[in-house]
Amino acid sequence: MRTSQFPLNTVKEIPADAEIASHKLMIRAGLIRKLAAGVYTWLPLGLRVLRKVEQITRSEMNKAGALEVMMPALQPAELWQETGRWEKYGPELARLKDRHDRDFCLGPTHEEIITDLARNELKSYKQLPITYYQIQTKFRDEIRPRFGIMRSREFLMKDAYSFHLSQESLNETYEVMYQTYTNIFNRFGLKFRAVIADSGSIGGAVSHEFHVLADSGEDAIAFSTLSNYAANVEKAEALAPTSARPAATATLQLVDTPNQHSIAEVSAFFGVAPEQCLKTLIVRGEDNILVALLLRGDHELNPIKAEKLDGVLSPLQFAGDAEILAACNCKPGSLGPIGLNIKVVADRSVSNLADFICGANQDGKHYSGVNWERDLALPEIADIRMICAGDPSPDGQGEITIARGIEVGHIFQLGVKYSEAMQAAVINEAGKNQIMIMGCYGIGISRIVAAAIEQSHDERGIIWPNELAPFQVAICPMNMHKSDRLLETVEKVYQELQDAGIEVLLDDRKVRAGFMFSDMELIGIPHRIVIGDRGLDSGTVEYQGRLDKESQEVAFADIVSFIK
Ligand code: ATP
Ligand code: MG
Ligand code: MG
Ligand code: MG
Repeated sequence: MRTSQFPLNTVKEIPADAEIASHKLMIRAGLIRKLAAGVYTWLPLGLRVLRKVEQITRSEMNKAGALEVMMPALQPAELWQETGRWEKYGPELARLKDRHDRDFCLGPTHEEIITDLARNELKSYKQLPITYYQIQTKFRDEIRPRFGIMRSREFLMKDAYSFHLSQESLNETYEVMYQTYTNIFNRFGLKFRAVIADSGSIGGAVSHEFHVLADSGEDAIAFSTLSNYAANVEKAEALAPTSARPAATATLQLVDTPNQHSIAEVSAFFGVAPEQCLKTLIVRGEDNILVALLLRGDHELNPIKAEKLDGVLSPLQFAGDAEILAACNCKPGSLGPIGLNIKVVADRSVSNLADFICGANQDGKHYSGVNWERDLALPEIADIRMICAGDPSPDGQGEITIARGIEVGHIFQLGVKYSEAMQAAVINEAGKNQIMIMGCYGIGISRIVAAAIEQSHDERGIIWPNELAPFQVAICPMNMHKSDRLLETVEKVYQELQDAGIEVLLDDRKVRAGFMFSDMELIGIPHRIVIGDRGLDSGTVEYQGRLDKESQEVAFADIVSFIK
C-alpha cells in the first residue's frame, strides 16, 4: 500500500472523553472514530488490525475442530423468555419491538440462540461432542461505555459453544479450549494470564478468564509468588482460607464528613485521575477500621445486583459498583460482601488514613449526617474478607501479589443451565432422550486491539507486536519525487518486500522526513526503512525498528532477509 492510496487519518487532537492511552492512541492514529457513546467506526488502518485478531482466532478455533456458524444479532424475546433471562438480564440487554409489536433484542451473547439451534439440529449422541463458534457483533447497553472500543456498546466477539453427553467430554473440550486460548494469545504476542474466575450470572461451576496484563486494566487479579495459582480477586477471596486472615466483623457506617479535602486533593493522594472520582466517602467499621472509598461511578454494575440495589443505591445516586482506590487498615485489599460489591483496584498502601477525612461529591454536596444503615438500609456487615498483597496464597504456596488485567477471554462450563431450560436433548446410546451438557467460550476480538495498545505503547505512539501490526514495514523515501534514480530503487525494494509476503506501507507523500517518521511511529509500524540519495551511492538503506534507539545501515541486497 501507498499512503497516496491508503491515506492515514492521524490527528493531533485528543478527545475529551479519552482517559486511557489506548483510547487516545486509537483516535490519534486514525484507527477508530466515534459515532455515539460506545459506538465506533473502524477506519481502514484499524480494521486491518481487527481482522488480524479475527483471523488468528479463527485459524486456532478451526485447528481445535470448532465449526464456524453465523447467528443473527436480532433475537426473538421468546427464546430469552424460555431461559428466564428476558426478565433477569436487566438494562444491559438492548430490547426493541418490530412493527407487529413483537419483542426482540440485539444479542449480548448467544446461549439461547445456539441452544435452540442445537435442539433442532442435534438428534443423536453420534453427533456429539460438537463445538460451534462465530465471530459476530454483540450489543450490550453498558451503563457507562468507556475507554473507546475497550468497553463499547457494539463490539466484536468470538463466542463458541460446545455440546456433550458427559461431564468427561465437557472437561476434555474445556481443556482443548483452554489450550487454544493460550495459543491464540501467544500468537498475538501479548503478555497474559489465565485466572480462575467466578462464573457469575452465566452460571456453571468451572470458569477461567484470560487477562492481558496492563496497569490500566479494570480487573484486579491475584497471583501466587510461588505456585501457578492465579485468580480474579473475587474468586481468590471466596477461596481464601478463613484461617489465613480472620474475617473481621464490622458494621460500616458513614462517618460525618466535613469537607476538608477536595476531589483534587483526594485523587492526588491516591494517584488517580480526578475524573475517575465521582465522590469520596470515609466509613468506619466497629474495630476502628477506616475505609476510604473513592467511588468511581462509571463502573459497570452487574444487572442482577443492580436489580437488588436499585432502591438502595438511589439515595446516593451510585451509578455502579463502588471501587476502592484506597485500602483499609493501611493495606490494599478488598471488602465484601457489604451489598455494594466493593472491589480492590489498587495495590497502594495508604498511610495516615485517620487524618484523611473527606466527603464531597463532584457537585459539591456533602453527605454529612447520613447514617449508612438507616438511610441506605444495608444489612449489617457481618463478614469482611479481603485478599491483600502479601497474604498467603489460597493454595498454601507462596504469597499473593495483586496485578491489573484486562479481561479479553472467558471460558465457562455451563452444565445444563440452558439445555435443561430449553429442553435441548439427543437420543443417547441406550435410546433414551438425554439433556446435553454445555460449555461456552468467549474472546473480546475488538477489545484485544485496545488491550494490545494498552500493554505496549510509548510517548510516540503504538508499538504493535508483529502479528497484529497493520503493516510490518514502512518505507520512507527522502525526496523521492526529485530523483528518478531514487524512485526506481524505492519501487524495487517495495516490490521485493511484498513478494516476500511482507505487508509494506510506502510513504509516497510529499512531506518532510520528520512528519513521515512521527506518523509511522504513531501508528506503530514495527520496521522502518529510509531510502535516500546518499544510501544509493553506498547501496544501503537506513533501518530502524520501532523500539530501536538508533538506525543502522543495511545493504539493499539483505533487506528482505533482515526483516524476515
Ligand atoms: P466485563 O467484565 O469486561 O464486563 P464480561 O465478563 O461481561 O466482560 P463476557 O460475557 O465474559 O464479558 O464476554 C466475553 C468477552 O467479551 C469478555 O471477556 C470481553 O473481552 C469482551 N467484552 C465484554 N463486554 C465488552 C464490551 N462492552 N466491549 C468490548 N468487549 C467486551
Ligand atoms: Mg460485562
Ligand atoms: Mg467480566
Ligand atoms: Mg466475563
